[in-house]
Amino acid sequence: MRALISVSDKTGVVELAKELEALGIELISTGGTYKKLAEAGVKAMEISELTGFPECLDGRVKTLHPVVHAGLLAMRSNPEHMKQLKELGIEPIDLVIVNLYPFKATILKDGVTRAEAVENIDIGGPTMLRAAAKNYQDVAVVTDPSDYEKILAELKADGQVSLDTKFYLMQKVFMHTSSYDTMIADYLKKERGDHSLPETLTMTFEKVEDMRYGENPHQKAAFYREIGKKKGSLVDAKQLNGKSLSFNNINDTNGALELLKEFTEPTVVACKHGNPCGVGSADTIEEAWKKAFAADKVSIYGGIVVSNREINETIAKDMKSMFLEVIVAPSYTEGALKMLSFKKDGSMRNVRVLELADISEKQPAEALDLKKVNGGLIVQNIDSKLLDGDVKVVTEKAPTEKEMEDLLFAWKVVKFVKSNGIAVAKDLQTVGIGPGQVNRVWAIEQCFEHANELIGPDATKGAVLASDAYFPFADNVEAAHKAGITAIIQPGGSIRDKDCIDKCNEYGIAMVFTGMRHFKH
Ligand code: 5GP
Repeated sequence: MRALISVSDKTGVVELAKELEALGIELISTGGTYKKLAEAGVKAMEISELTGFPECLDGRVKTLHPVVHAGLLAMRSNPEHMKQLKELGIEPIDLVIVNLYPFKATILKDGVTRAEAVENIDIGGPTMLRAAAKNYQDVAVVTDPSDYEKILAELKADGQVSLDTKFYLMQKVFMHTSSYDTMIADYLKKERGDHSLPETLTMTFEKVEDMRYGENPHQKAAFYREIGKKKGSLVDAKQLNGKSLSFNNINDTNGALELLKEFTEPTVVACKHGNPCGVGSADTIEEAWKKAFAADKVSIYGGIVVSNREINETIAKDMKSMFLEVIVAPSYTEGALKMLSFKKDGSMRNVRVLELADISEKQPAEALDLKKVNGGLIVQNIDSKLLDGDVKVVTEKAPTEKEMEDLLFAWKVVKFVKSNGIAVAKDLQTVGIGPGQVNRVWAIEQCFEHANELIGPDATKGAVLASDAYFPFADNVEAAHKAGITAIIQPGGSIRDKDCIDKCNEYGIAMVFTGMRHFKH
């Protein structure tokens, strides 16, 4: 039996080679691998000895030789193949241990040049992997060091690798080479500054972890990360306390973080099922937290809280008295972290506490938003804009400076509320949020109901209202007026805009148009 070993990731390769040697398997290896084995006292044949050709062009050509590839591709069950091998003086290769040049690690390095990345595109490795995998009935091909143990066990027990295992290894090879090539293609697309939606969508994601379950306990789920640096993203957050994040935690926290990124001033967002339930901005983060909490003291139970400033003891003291699923902040004071992580008796608290240093870093505008539908995928750029230029005052009355501040605050919030979405705000605090309603009047009414029930009977008096899409009818203005709303922000663009403007003028409400819609489904 012959094995060819050529690995960039040399983890466990010496131990493996020693075991193979002990099983009487003849070893062949390439430059760096050969050196490593020789240093460890493992006997192997250099590839150049096998091919009768030197490794050349700085390693670009090592195993690319018919002696290697005929040895890999010859079908042992085909007498003609075996006859030809004999005539050519080529011996079959039965076992291939190859892993590829570290392209991913290279492109993730700071300041990597294109030349360096290109040099790390493996050529001979994938060629060998593909050849060996195609001939899976006769060749066992291992690309993942975590499979070393499995094939060793089989070789020791039966003197061969089972067909089942070889078939599994074949499939693994094509998964590996296809994601390797996709990674290269993705990198090159970015290098070219090409942000188009290509004919075939290829993106590489790698599994971070299997999850206990998905949205519901009967759904299988895993978390995958996109390859490349993702500043400000949950995948780069450091978890300081609590169990690992669940499927819903990740989805909800992501929603909360995207909303938080709209704000530069101290802001806290509380979120439930992907919708904000309380948002507050203020001069200090303590004040912002108080507002976010006071906005909806009920829904925050079991919710997610994200803050764009350090969490200190004052805030942590409040937080620890309630049930929260996830907290994310750029940092925590030592005392705050202790309070959030430990109970009085010293046991661990359940809340997941995450640190995300660059929490305000936004995704680039060309980033993609993907949604799987049955039988396909719908793809768009992320909703990276807030306004289309300046807002346009369309009523006789213009908003006061304070109203304008609140309108923009509410507009940022409503952008992240599921459609039909309405946000009502006062003093840089949400007082009512109406998400995911099938008609806009219900969304408005839900806001007012919540405001009155959760904050007080006058909560909406003097508040402002934001609508994610235009008002189709003036009944929305009617409802707003009844609740005491003094200013409205909405995209405009309805054929009944004039009715709405007239109604606002009648009631002395100021209204501005953004010229931009923010549906979110
Ligand atoms: P070594 O460290 O043993 O010199 O090189 C191992 C690496 O070389 C492996 O990652 C393997 O995939 C790669 N490799 C093997 N043969 C060739 C070849 O002919 N051309 C190129 N570019 N890479 C090869």
